[in-house]
Amino acid sequence: MKLETLTVNSFRNIGSAAIVADDRLNIFHGNNAQGKTNLLESIFLLGTMKSFRLAKNQELVQWGAANAFLKGIVAHNGITQEITLLINNEGKKARVDQKALTRLADFFGCLNVVVFSPEELQMVRGMPESRRRYLDRAIFSSDISYLALHHEYCKILRHRNAMLRKGERQGLEVWSEQLAEAGSKIVEKRVAYLEELGELLQLYYRDIAGLDEAATVTYLPQKLNRDSLQLRGETRELLLAAIQRCGMEEERLGTTLVGPHRDDIEFKLGSKALKHYGSQGEQRSFILALKMAEIEYMQRRFGHPPILLLDDMTSELDQGRNRNLMEFIDQKAMQVFITTTHLENIRMQGITRYKTFLVEDGTVIH
Ligand code: ATP
Ligand code: MG
Repeated sequence: MKLETLTVNSFRNIGSAAIVADDRLNIFHGNNAQGKTNLLESIFLLGTMKSFRLAKNQELVQWGAANAFLKGIVAHNGITQEITLLINNEGKKARVDQKALTRLADFFGCLNVVVFSPEELQMVRGMPESRRRYLDRAIFSSDISYLALHHEYCKILRHRNAMLRKGERQGLEVWSEQLAEAGSKIVEKRVAYLEELGELLQLYYRDIAGLDEAATVTYLPQKLNRDSLQLRGETRELLLAAIQRCGMEEERLGTTLVGPHRDDIEFKLGSKALKHYGSQGEQRSFILALKMAEIEYMQRRFGHPPILLLDDMTSELDQGRNRNLMEFIDQKAMQVFITTTHLENIRMQGITRYKTFLVEDGTVIH
């Protein structure tokens, strides 16, 4: 799968840009705050309809403009498709080959993307929220039904929290049941995803670090015994029981304490929690291996690797890890879009085919 051309209009600080991409390596370079990450974000949106920066629609439209417009021509298995996205205050409208989409499922899979940004390195030590966000994004990239499930859960959670805040007890039980129902589906998908990803992580970590230490990812449910989650099909009941156990505390605090919105993921090397004991180097190797695992997972699912968006990663990874990443990309024959402030930072060992684009004040100079 390759993005052949990208057209961007009135998106963030980019008034108008059109690029013809290389089918292997593309480098957006330029000073800070010129629009490099914005370009990656536009590609991510064409793939997922979501921003990897948690942006609202309004923030995506260039200041002073009414609509942002994105277009990508994607080639896959000898067929090309045109994907367009119109973004404004009212929402996002997608078209594939000029046809308006009625179902998100028709959009999904036209352009598979994975993003790797400094944010991911920070999530090791960061708050659980950043790890949940990572996990949700990764699952959504391979499973469209996860998004609808997530929306439904958030809706139920908002309603239930409002009731708890107001001290409304009547009808709360029905909402608890709905929360457990939707929440258990999310938890089960997360656990299953991490199980499969964990096996791949183990392989890649060994490759990168050259050590036999076990790299593991474990789902950490709040207020629940994590081992009990092994029993598939019982998650709903487990959540419901936990909600009941926390009833008094929830009423006192006025918020929902049980469910996937409170859960976490634990990264471990052997018996050591990466968050507390991992060296910087170990953390970087771990996250790099995790990203490679995510890419391999998508390749298995779709039969081809996704397009990789690397935001400013070369300054974050040292020479050895950069080389590992480049070798991996080369071996997968993936298309990659990289941003950097300094072209010379990108060590392309042996890679001779690439295109560079200078980004200056929202304009792309070829
Ligand atoms: P860095 O090297 O620091 O990461 P960058 O080139 O990746 O920089 P971007 O994150 O792409 O920079 O952002 C470039 C600029 O876009 C920022 O200065 C930001 O203020 C501006 N910007 C963001 N949203 C909008 C918008 N809706 N309209 C106009 N400009 C915007
Ligand atoms: Mg940037």
